[in-house]
Amino acid sequence: MPEINPWGSELVTDYDKLFKEFGLQPITPELLKKIGLDYRGFRRGIIFAHRDFDKFVEATEKGRKTAVMSGIKPSSEFHLGSKMTAEEIIYLQKRFGSTVFYAVADYESYADNGISFEDAHEFAVDNVADLLALGLDEKNAVIYKQSECLNVMRLGHVFSNKVTPNMMTALYGHQKTGLYNAVFIQMADILQPQLKQFGGANFTVVPVGVDQDPHIRLTRDIAGRTKTEFGFIPPAATYHKFFRALNGETKMSKRDPMNVLTLNDSPELVKKKVNRALTGGRDTEKEQREKGGDIKKCVVYELMLYHFYEDDLALEDMKDECLQGKILCGECKLKRIKVIQDYLKKHQEKKKKMQSKARKILEQ
Ligand code: SF4
Repeated sequence: MPEINPWGSELVTDYDKLFKEFGLQPITPELLKKIGLDYRGFRRGIIFAHRDFDKFVEATEKGRKTAVMSGIKPSSEFHLGSKMTAEEIIYLQKRFGSTVFYAVADYESYADNGISFEDAHEFAVDNVADLLALGLDEKNAVIYKQSECLNVMRLGHVFSNKVTPNMMTALYGHQKTGLYNAVFIQMADILQPQLKQFGGANFTVVPVGVDQDPHIRLTRDIAGRTKTEFGFIPPAATYHKFFRALNGETKMSKRDPMNVLTLNDSPELVKKKVNRALTGGRDTEKEQREKGGDIKKCVVYELMLYHFYEDDLALEDMKDECLQGKILCGECKLKRIKVIQDYLKKHQEKKKKMQSKARKILEQ
């Protein structure tokens, strides 16, 4: 099995290796200045690497048409990983005026999870309502289902003719044919914004977790090999770090519901899940008061860092309290549970108002 697997649950911890072995580029201070610090993903180094994102930013400076491409596998509710990607595309849409292309990957949910297209549709309505509630401007977006998009079916077919079985095995290991097929469709999703009907040769960026890099590498390769046919430019990508499951052992994944927070969770469920989360608590109260908590190990801190504390000062206070042994994990969890419950309550109220709009977008 290759080291980075899009369908696996392994955590990548050695990010330096990714720069060396896979040629990812770091987000430099100069680039960060152009991106801006308003979104905590960039400000806190959660989005840590890219491929050709500097070229994308330059294109926006020259007034070129740009696109941000992303999507969701409609197999369950929006979890925090989906939220992180959604927030980034919304930020880039606002910051650079780029058009968002958002694919509902119902081919992949069928291939990977055996979910019928009808069930996937209902998940998709719920997921798109989340996206709208998080702030996506649907007037500058193309939201579509793979199974209904002729462009991606056609392009996917073209791309499947450019790749050998050996290349697929080298990148993804031995998988069923349906998953390989979902990869071709996903490459088509990524390159679709560059088709003539959308203005041709847009600079496109794809925000992903590092586990999705095999898709990006293959798509960039295919873009080069179909340049004469379609005039594609290799897409840019940004990479965010993995967010751990609540038990701290794997990456956050929909496959393990009690170890993942979703945007639909009730206050009771949040309490139950966060109470089970891994902390960096010491063996005894005395030891914790003396040494402070082991914050690097703590998923509760990570929840606040990645998702729920927008204010950097609030995050610093939490860190100080922990490291100086001023607080024990039980009390600390209670405080953060309240923060999460408050956030989700507001989000769920906004989302309720977006349900009919989401359905209309997907059924028009
Ligand atoms: Fe984590 Fe809070 Fe415990 Fe520190 S005190 S290890 S931040 S739960």
